Amino acid sequence: MGSVPAVRREQIAAGLAAARERIRQAESNAGRPAGSVSLTVVTKTFPAEEVAVLAELGVRDVGENRDQEAAPKAQALESHDLVWHYIGQLQSNKARSVVGYAEIVESVDRPKLVGALSRAAEAAGRTLACLVQVSLEPGSDAGPGRGGVDPSGLSALADAVAESPALDLRGVMAVAPLGEDPDQAFSRLAELADRLRQGHPQASAISAGMSADLEAAVRHGATHVRLGSAILGYRPPVG
Ligand SMILES: *Cc1c(COP(=O)(O)O)cnc(C)c1O
Repeated sequence: MGSVPAVRREQIAAGLAAARERIRQAESNAGRPAGSVSLTVVTKTFPAEEVAVLAELGVRDVGENRDQEAAPKAQALESHDLVWHYIGQLQSNKARSVVGYAEIVESVDRPKLVGALSRAAEAAGRTLACLVQVSLEPGSDAGPGRGGVDPSGLSALADAVAESPALDLRGVMAVAPLGEDPDQAFSRLAELADRLRQGHPQASAISAGMSADLEAAVRHGATHVRLGSAILGYRPPVG
């Protein structure tokens, strides 16, 4: 790996410090205990060298959304104490690769993927933590949206994860729809998460909130926020 220029290191350190302060402030404003929200730094599109800088700054949880990018990065950073979260759409034929480095898959969105992840985790002789990604699109004819199972399918999908011996159901993940007030979207998510916990008390994680809307997510009970650009800066849009 190459080295990261000092100015960039300082920029990353400042971005991280500001994000941690924002989370602390959001916890306090929501009347929640300090430290109740954990941070996953989304490192997609940024080089492994910069992820190493984050690790040196005390970051453990990092998120990636494309296997072909994440697999070599995770391998290059094997000697660092990092926990890889897979947060993107996942094809079933990539399940085996993802299970090779990710501790948790946050984007379980269909039964076929449950089967593939379950077989891959079993073959690897390990347990894989899973979140079910739920769509918060307001209408059912809202178009392709930002991924996730329709709320009507959440319960069955969560049951499928919970019934797979090699998978550990931890909770839900969601992305707020573009153009909607994130408070409204995240309050629907809080209700869905509540309902899920009635059947699966251990599934208490709510991964919600990104750079633009973390405060709203924390107001509505997020236990994990996923921040990329707020910490690492501008990220060119990917096709
Ligand atoms: C890219 C991404 C994020 C981080 O987004 P920022 O706006 O850069 O904070 C969070 N969650 C998912 C699923 C993502 O794909």
